[in-house]
Amino acid sequence: MRIFIQWISLRENISGQDITIYTDSEASILSSTMTGLTSTKFVLYNDIDVILELQEQLRSSVHTIHLVHVEAHQDKHTKYKNLSPEAKLNVLMDKNVGLFIERNPRKYAHSLDAPHFPTQKLCLSGRHGTITAAFRDIFIDQFNQPVQNEYMKKHFGEASSTGANWKHVARVLKTGKKFRSRNTKMLHNQYNTFDTCYRWKTSSTANCPLCKTKVESWDHLPRCNHHEIRRICNLEIIRIRKAMTKVKTEPQLQTHLLSCIRAYTENKTIPRPSTSNVPMTEAHKQQIAIRWDNFMKGIWSEKWEKIQHTHYCNMEEKNDKLNVDVWSKRMVECMFMLYRILWKERCEINQAQKIGALDSRIREKTHMQYPNLCSG
Ligand SMILES: [Zn+2]
Repeated sequence: MRIFIQWISLRENISGQDITIYTDSEASILSSTMTGLTSTKFVLYNDIDVILELQEQLRSSVHTIHLVHVEAHQDKHTKYKNLSPEAKLNVLMDKNVGLFIERNPRKYAHSLDAPHFPTQKLCLSGRHGTITAAFRDIFIDQFNQPVQNEYMKKHFGEASSTGANWKHVARVLKTGKKFRSRNTKMLHNQYNTFDTCYRWKTSSTANCPLCKTKVESWDHLPRCNHHEIRRICNLEIIRIRKAMTKVKTEPQLQTHLLSCIRAYTENKTIPRPSTSNVPMTEAHKQQIAIRWDNFMKGIWSEKWEKIQHTHYCNMEEKNDKLNVDVWSKRMVECMFMLYRILWKERCEINQAQKIGALDSRIREKTHMQYPNLCSG
């Protein structure tokens, strides 16, 4: 910021000007007036260097600096063209930062290094490089670790310890705000299935309301043989295939993954890849450890990702929009969507059946009360 302000001064050869800095972070305006930031209490505070620099500039710059708050994401409720110039700038900056992170995820989003953009973090370095740039998270994580481990073991089995694509699952949950709660429920097996209802004594049966033959456990849904569920599964598999083709999935990998999904949904044995393909066999083995029910929920072995990465590296025509992080995120989104659509359909059919049952009950009652209505 100092360089930026000095650059303006040098360029325009001016001083004593009013400079307005727009920000959508109320926290930064508040922190610009905070005192005592040099005490030990704030040593681990993220962005402390930026806050101190800002305070320094506000105090000593040859210009008068104004900090103005702009409400974030105003384009959500107003058309972009009708926004004020400040709000437009905010939308554009958000978009640019989003694009930057999307295009450089390996470099920035999951890096423990202290990035200079878009966030600043206090970073602890040792002789061999950065040790951590996330003190707070590490302390909190360590405190919660035993409980977390127990929970993960119970809900995800081996997937919690074997190389699964957790960071992409987390990324989809983080960025897909619209479906976050539904996706989280699905991931944690918290759909209100009849098996659960039966245990809570809110249903007289644990059987699936659609096929009526199998217990409706949380993993029954994609395997249910109700004709509507089967129809949607087939449509969804086509959609996943299209999505895979769009991100240029390695052809053998695509065929194999699709046949795994199909076999799982049809209650058939999951096909093994040809033994001559070593990376694929390794990935398949790891996926078995992670389990196929987890696979259906988007928890995939990281080794699938490696195969795709090699494929991208070997592609003649390079395209910076195609990278393996984008690929993995896309695959997780596809699997989440498969579950969401199936669950929505299941609930709608169940609801329609209930309404149907209600209609016939009303008809029966009416008939008992007013038998003459029908006898005429
Ligand atoms: Zn069923």
